[in-house]
Amino acid sequence: MSTTTGRTPLPHLTGEHDEIRTRIRNQLADAVLPYADSWERQRAIDADGWRALGAHGLLELAHGGDDFLDSAVLLEELGRTGYAGVRAAVGVHAYMATSYLRMFGTEEQRATLLPAVARGERIAALAISEAGAGTDLRHLSTRAEVLGADGYRVSGQKYYVANGSRAGFYVTLVKTRETTGSRGLSGASLLVIDADAPGVTHTPQPMTGWHSADVCRVDFDGVLVPANRLIGRRDFALMHLMTGLDFERLVAGLLAVGGVGYCLELLHRFVREHQVKDVPLAAHQAVRHKVAELTGDFELVRNYAYHAAWLHSRGLLDTRTASVLKLKATELAVTAAQTCVQYHGARGYLDDAAASRLYRDAMAGTIAAGASELLRDMIFESH
Ligand SMILES: Cc1cc2nc3c(=O)[nH]c(=O)nc-3n(C[C@H](O)[C@H](O)[C@H](O)COP(=O)(O)OP(=O)(O)OC[C@H]3O[C@@H](n4cnc5c(N)ncnc54)[C@H](O)[C@@H]3O)c2cc1C
Repeated sequence: MSTTTGRTPLPHLTGEHDEIRTRIRNQLADAVLPYADSWERQRAIDADGWRALGAHGLLELAHGGDDFLDSAVLLEELGRTGYAGVRAAVGVHAYMATSYLRMFGTEEQRATLLPAVARGERIAALAISEAGAGTDLRHLSTRAEVLGADGYRVSGQKYYVANGSRAGFYVTLVKTRETTGSRGLSGASLLVIDADAPGVTHTPQPMTGWHSADVCRVDFDGVLVPANRLIGRRDFALMHLMTGLDFERLVAGLLAVGGVGYCLELLHRFVREHQVKDVPLAAHQAVRHKVAELTGDFELVRNYAYHAAWLHSRGLLDTRTASVLKLKATELAVTAAQTCVQYHGARGYLDDAAASRLYRDAMAGTIAAGASELLRDMIFESH
């Protein structure tokens, strides 16, 4: 059991994980914190930033097995940087997009794509959502015409693609077979599409928060994709998504937990330091109790997050656990950020204040990777 994290000891973590956490925190202090404000302004992590993360070995940690707990620590620490755009960009690149290659890709796909991903030289993006297909993927309109041994010709438009302008490739959900009256997503496939293939263009979609996440619309106009770029089984992407989306929600939950931790550190410090009417804010019981409530909720969600990570490390993660974690962690982030701005007063509402960034960023968490309402439906139905 871990004892030196500075917070309540966590289940499933050992002293070795404490050492990993310290190392990762130092690496992120070196590779992220000095540059994050400039990435926020330029709305993307730059090439040097990606390479530095790669050089520290932070883009190739395990997606499964016992070593996934190292990843859980990394994901929490990424959140704890306080920059949700950075954490989302790295989460998509190193986990959400590449999970499909690691789980369902061929040896050849993994050998050709993943080493450059690990070095931060080739950025991965996940292109699933469309203007009319976010929560409900049955309305997918991006089509891949099957050209036999010659592969596929892809046309369509993907929305809100994180890492959209810097990506080397997009893991893209396409329709490969026409279906009618289907209750679920059927006849869809996952393709790896190179960003520099003729017919691929991207247009920034600047967001209210997550500035470093480089969110773009990506257009595919008759793009030719070789047959060996199909991930898993053709027409059966739904099967892959069911596992992939649970993993995505686990990753999003762990990242959000780190973000809440950062927010609470800021809050605890501020209410002890800031004086109103000659006493620190924390002298007011209402303030202390509000911060204590958030701290209690944080401890519960953080413990649950590591429980979910452990389940995943054993191959036991289920949709309900992943959904509960993502829902609770991202909604707590909203409440915590709102409180953080409120107690900072006007100084917290300045455009460049950390509290302000947390507030802007938090709302994206309850939409991206499955809106809260969808998760509530899934939790209800899983009972
Ligand atoms: C910052 C950011 C980054 C993103 N990055 C990516 C990315 O990298 N790749 C990618 O493919 N997609 C990405 N997305 C898209 C994301 O996955 C979708 O936004 C999400 O799936 C919701 O789809 P939608 O926005 O189309 O909302 P819709 O599906 O149109 O839903 C709108 C709203 O309706 C409500 N709602 C939904 N279902 C229900 C229900 N059952 N009951 C009641 N209310 C409901 C919710 O409040 C929801 O927000 C990103 C989104 C954001 C905000």
